[in-house]
Amino acid sequence: MLREVWSGSVEILRAMGVTLKYLFKRPVTNQFPREAAVVYPRFRGRHVLKRHDNGLERCIGCSLCLAACPTNCILVVAGENTDEERYSPGERYAEIYEINLLRCIFCGYCAEACPTEAIVLEHDFALSVYDRWDAIITREQLLEPHRPEYIVLRDDQQWQDSNTKWQTSVFRPQAPAE
Ligand code: SF4
Ligand code: SF4
Repeated sequence: MLREVWSGSVEILRAMGVTLKYLFKRPVTNQFPREAAVVYPRFRGRHVLKRHDNGLERCIGCSLCLAACPTNCILVVAGENTDEERYSPGERYAEIYEINLLRCIFCGYCAEACPTEAIVLEHDFALSVYDRWDAIITREQLLEPHRPEYIVLRDDQQWQDSNTKWQTSVFRPQAPAE
C-alpha cells in the first residue's frame, strides 16, 4: 500500500516536472491569422500558373499534368492560338484550366509532369471556402500572382539552424474596402 502511494507520488511529481519544464519556454503555437505563418520553402500549397517574361502563358494545354494527377482533379481544355489571339508561345493554350482543391492531395505530380514549368505549387494553405464550388480554382484565378502576406518563407539560415526559433511577423488583416 505504502509502496503504491510512494510510486504514485513519484509519477505525479515527474508529470509536474514536465509541465514545469515547458512552463517558461516560448510557445510553439502560431496565432494565425494574427501572426504570419512561417512555412518551409518546399511546402506545397495552392497552385499558380506561371507566365513567361513577355507575359505569354507558359501553359500549352498539353494535359500532361492531368494525366499525372492521381486524383483526377485537373480539367484542361486546349484552345488554338492564332496570330490575332495568342496566349502562349506554342500552337495551343489552356482555354479552360481548373483544379478542384477538394480532391487535390498536393502531391506535386502535376508540377513534376509539366514540360514548361507552367503549373507550380506555391505556399498558400488558407484555402477554406463556404461553398464547395469555390474550391474549384479557374485558369483566371491561377494566372493571378498569388503571394499572400500572411505567409513568410523560412530562410536558409533558419532552415539550417535547428536552434533558431520560428520568426513570425505580426500580420493584421485589413478591413475590407467600403
Ligand atoms: S498536386 Fe497532385 S493531386 Fe493536386 S492537382 Fe497536382 S497532381 Fe493532382
Ligand atoms: S500546366 Fe503544364 S502539363 Fe498542364 S497542360 Fe499546361 S503545359 Fe501541359
